[in-house]
Amino acid sequence: MKYKFATAINCIDGRTQKPVIDFVRRKFSVDYVDMITEPGPDKILSENKKSGIVKSIKDRVTISIEKHESKVIVIVGHHDCAGNPVNEKTHQTQIKKAIQNVDNWNSGVPVFGIWLNKGWKGTFCSMVLSNIA
Ligand SMILES: [Zn+2]
Repeated sequence: MKYKFATAINCIDGRTQKPVIDFVRRKFSVDYVDMITEPGPDKILSENKKSGIVKSIKDRVTISIEKHESKVIVIVGHHDCAGNPVNEKTHQTQIKKAIQNVDNWNSGVPVFGIWLNKGWKGTFCSMVLSNIA
């Protein structure tokens, strides 16, 4: 049997891991979620400035897509983020910008944003860009 994978660009925060895995498995009907973590990835990817870190994230995403045939990329922002201590509105804006920037990598899979709220519940960000054929 062949397993289905998704790729999450998530925070290092230990509180976010399980909620993201559960949310992504349920919403995208995948078996496993490849986890790429950085502190405050929504900030890093929306600013798109720290080129070494962005390249490192991109390299790891590429492995997940090429070797695991991941079918979707999700970018996570969350409540009470130590790496990116801004309000929810700013997180939402950053997630949307991050989606655009990652979509520009043209990885061939759709890119979604996830917001994890105070209760560690996942929701999709309002804008969903995708390059689904
Ligand atoms: Zn965080």
